[in-house]
Amino acid sequence: MDFDLGEAANTLRGELRGLIADQIPAGFLGAFTDDPADLDVAQRFCRTLAQRHLLCMSWPTEFGGGGSSVWEQTVVREEMWAHHEPRGAQYMGVNWVGPIIMRHGTEEQQRKHLPPIANGEVIWCQGFSEPEAGSDLASLRTSARREGDGWRINGQKIWTSYATMAQWCFLLARTSKGEKKQQGLTIFLVPMSDPAITVRPIRTMMGPHHLNEVFFDELKVTEADVLGTVDQGWSIVQDVMSFERVGIARYARCEKLLQAAPAVLGDAWDTLPAELRGRWTRMLTHCRRARLMAYRVVSLQSTGRVKPGDTAAYRIAVTKLDQDSAEVLMEIIAALPRGESEHFRQEVEDHWRYAQASTVSSGSIEMQRILLSRAMLTEARA
Ligand SMILES: Cc1cc2nc3c(=O)[nH]c(=O)nc-3n(C[C@H](O)[C@H](O)[C@H](O)COP(=O)(O)OP(=O)(O)OC[C@H]3O[C@@H](n4cnc5c(N)ncnc54)[C@H](O)[C@@H]3O)c2cc1C
Repeated sequence: MDFDLGEAANTLRGELRGLIADQIPAGFLGAFTDDPADLDVAQRFCRTLAQRHLLCMSWPTEFGGGGSSVWEQTVVREEMWAHHEPRGAQYMGVNWVGPIIMRHGTEEQQRKHLPPIANGEVIWCQGFSEPEAGSDLASLRTSARREGDGWRINGQKIWTSYATMAQWCFLLARTSKGEKKQQGLTIFLVPMSDPAITVRPIRTMMGPHHLNEVFFDELKVTEADVLGTVDQGWSIVQDVMSFERVGIARYARCEKLLQAAPAVLGDAWDTLPAELRGRWTRMLTHCRRARLMAYRVVSLQSTGRVKPGDTAAYRIAVTKLDQDSAEVLMEIIAALPRGESEHFRQEVEDHWRYAQASTVSSGSIEMQRILLSRAMLTEARA
C-alpha cells in the first residue's frame, strides 16, 4: 500500500489548521477542563466542521457525511488529536458509534441517529465496563429483562467517559444466560435524559468531566432501541473495538510536541544530555512506526479484513509511544527556565496525564498483548 496521503491531504491539513487557528483559543487544552467555556468551544467547533462536511468526511452522503475517503478522515483525526481534540467528546460518535449504526442498525435507527452525529449536535457515551467487568467484559451484570413490548434495564456502569454531557448511551446488557458468557448480551441505544439513569462523576487527573459512574434503575426501553440481534451483542462489541482502538491518532500529538521541543527550548536544547536527545530521536522514529501501523489498520478496515490482532498490535505500539514520549518530554521541559513557554509546559503536562490512562482505556495493554499472542499463535498453526 502507498503511505503517501498526497496533495489533497496536505490541502485539507492546511484548511483544518486554519480553522483551528481562527476558532480555538490559544491556550486550549481540550474540552474537559474546569472551565465550562472549553466544552462550548468544542461544541461550536463541531458544528463548524459539520457545516463544511469536515466532521464525518468519510461517511456516505446518504447518512449526512462528506462521501470522502477514509484517508481524508484519517487526516482530520490526526489534526484534531494533535491540537488537543477540539471536537471534544464528539469524536466517539464520528469514529465508531456512527459506523457501527451504519453496519448494524435498522433504517429507522440510521435515520434517527446518524444525521445528528454528522451535524455535530450530539454526544454519545459507551456503557460497557462495570465494577467487576472490565478486561473480563463478558461477565457484566447489568441486565435487561423483557417486559411487555420492551425491556427493563437495571445495573451499574463505571469509567463511562463523557456521561455527564452525553445525550445517548451505547449500552451493553445481559439479556439471557448462554452456554458461554459472551452469549446472551445485547446492545441498547438509550437516551441519557431518562430519569431512571443517574450519573455520578469520578474526579481524576484527566479533568473533572471525563469519567463517571452510571446507574440504571428500572430503565424502560423499547424493542426499537435494540441494536442488531437480541443476545448477539458480542459480535457488535468486537466491531466497536476494531474501530475504537484506532480511533484516536495519539501519535499525531506525540509527534507535534516532540518536534516543537527544540525550537521552544532554544539555546537550552544544546544543554540537554546527549542521552536524552538520543531518546527524543528514538521517540520520533516510534511516532513514524505507530503512524504506519495505524494506516495499515485503516487500510484493512476499509476492505473489511481487519482482525483483533491487527488493532491490538497498533494499540500496544501507540499507547507505549504515548507514555514513553510523555516521559521524554517531561524531562525536556525540566530544562525550561521558570516562567518561560508556559503553554508548552502545560501541553506536555496534559499529554503526560492523558498518557497514563492510555494503556488501560479501550482494553488494557496486557489484554492487547494476549489478543496479539493468540492471533500470532493461530496464524502460526494455520
Ligand atoms: C480514561 C479511561 C476511559 C474509559 N472510558 C470508558 C468508557 O467510556 N466506557 C467504558 O465502558 N469503559 C471505559 N473505560 C474502562 C476501561 O475499558 C477498563 O478500565 C479496562 O477495560 C480495564 O478494566 P478494569 O478497569 O476493570 O481493570 P481490570 O480488568 O480489573 O484489570 C486490572 C489489571 O489486571 C490486568 N488483567 C486483568 N485480566 C487479566 C488477564 N486475564 N491477564 C493478564 N492481566 C490481566 C489488566 O491488564 C489490568 O492491568 C475507560 C478507562 C479509562 C482509563
